[in-house]
Amino acid sequence: MLRRLIGTCTRELLDFALPPRCSACGVIVGEVHSFCPDCWSKIAFLGSGGCETCGHPLQATEAESCAVCLARPPRIARTRSAVAYDEISRGLAIRLKYGRKVAVAKTMARFMAPLIAGGGERVLVPVPLHRSRLWWRGFNQSALVAAELSKRLDVPAAPMLLRRHRRTPPLKGMSALQRRKAVAGAFRVRDPASVKGKTIILVDDVLTTGSTAEACARALKRAGAARIELVSWARVVKPSLLMR
Ligand SMILES: [Zn+2]
Ligand SMILES: [Zn+2]
Repeated sequence: MLRRLIGTCTRELLDFALPPRCSACGVIVGEVHSFCPDCWSKIAFLGSGGCETCGHPLQATEAESCAVCLARPPRIARTRSAVAYDEISRGLAIRLKYGRKVAVAKTMARFMAPLIAGGGERVLVPVPLHRSRLWWRGFNQSALVAAELSKRLDVPAAPMLLRRHRRTPPLKGMSALQRRKAVAGAFRVRDPASVKGKTIILVDDVLTTGSTAEACARALKRAGAARIELVSWARVVKPSLLMR
């Protein structure tokens, strides 16, 4: 505990004393928690455009919502991601996940915070890890980002509110249906009273098919949440849909 505290203080001091560096490649830049011009030009920022519900880039024939959301409105009323999943955004996600880099969480939060809409009584809830994985890694990377978003937006974060009570297999390589089945019923709300009538903003690092977030949303809705939104750092987007 003490060692961790000293570590945090030293890091904060170093952040203060050393020149800021590009969050992706490490070259010296003019601003903290930012990117150098070279990396900046390579990152595909998704912004708040796209389908007003799922955030996916729209086809020329679609107006506000995409055809998928119109046909079957998803449980998550609004999904936004800062950047497309690629080499640079994956690099940051990996450094956060395995390195507990608070500076990385701060960079992510900087680009995620403007995508979160106002209104309603809001609570930030990170997508939880199973306790065995939490014990192994020592922290939940999405909770680090939620804590930074909480500071930036002055919205409370509740990292323990949602619980992954069942271990889920790695979803990589599974079809959408297999993924849905693998995570179905894996999440529980610890204290339904603290969710009732509120807007829950799920916080995730990387969004792939969204099946994990959907399972979280299902548990939260069942516990009485009024509205579910999702904000992630990166998102897997078909390259053909990215306008560069
Ligand atoms: Zn760079
Ligand atoms: Zn949509």
